[in-house]
Amino acid sequence: KSPQVIIIGRPNVGKSTLFNRLVGKRLALVDDQPGVTRDRRFGAAHLIDMEFTAVDTAGWEDDDPSSLPGRMRAQTEVSLKGADVALFVFDARAGITPLEEEIARWLRGENVPVVLVGNKAEGKTGDAGLLESYALGLGEPVPLSAEHGEGMVELFEALQPLL
Ligand code: GDP
Ligand code: MG
Repeated sequence: KSPQVIIIGRPNVGKSTLFNRLVGKRLALVDDQPGVTRDRRFGAAHLIDMEFTAVDTAGWEDDDPSSLPGRMRAQTEVSLKGADVALFVFDARAGITPLEEEIARWLRGENVPVVLVGNKAEGKTGDAGLLESYALGLGEPVPLSAEHGEGMVELFEALQPLL
């Protein structure tokens, strides 16, 4: 079975852009899987010589903070189940927000390896945000530009030992 890499993070950080870059047109037909909800998208991904199933999520798209715990529980039950690695994407230009701190707390309680990804980091525009992200306690961030395809080798190097 292909290892599963789940892409999570708050809205607008570039999760779907990263998913599309990893998957291209190879969208998998996995709608017959039990428990698949329409806030997730599966695709056959490849990165350099690695093959895996990428899972795009939209679990935090609702911006009503009062329902965050409920959504996080739902995410825990359905989305992270079966994932081998979580790619936790944040916007390196915007830096770390309370929602990143919330997601980081949630992830630390889960039994899944996490790769922290600072997206929108083309040029040096994300440097301050990348530095801030060390405080999440999830290790070294991978600087990426999903839109421009920068940092894919670094993402490969971070992901490869975990798959
Ligand atoms: P999602 O809500 O996390 O799935 O985010 P999307 O993939 O829909 O992207 C949100 C916005 O960020 C879109 O306008 C993208 O074009 C933009 N975006 C995504 N990746 C990058 C990037 O690497 N650099 C920049 N500057 N913008 C990006
Ligand atoms: Mg999206």
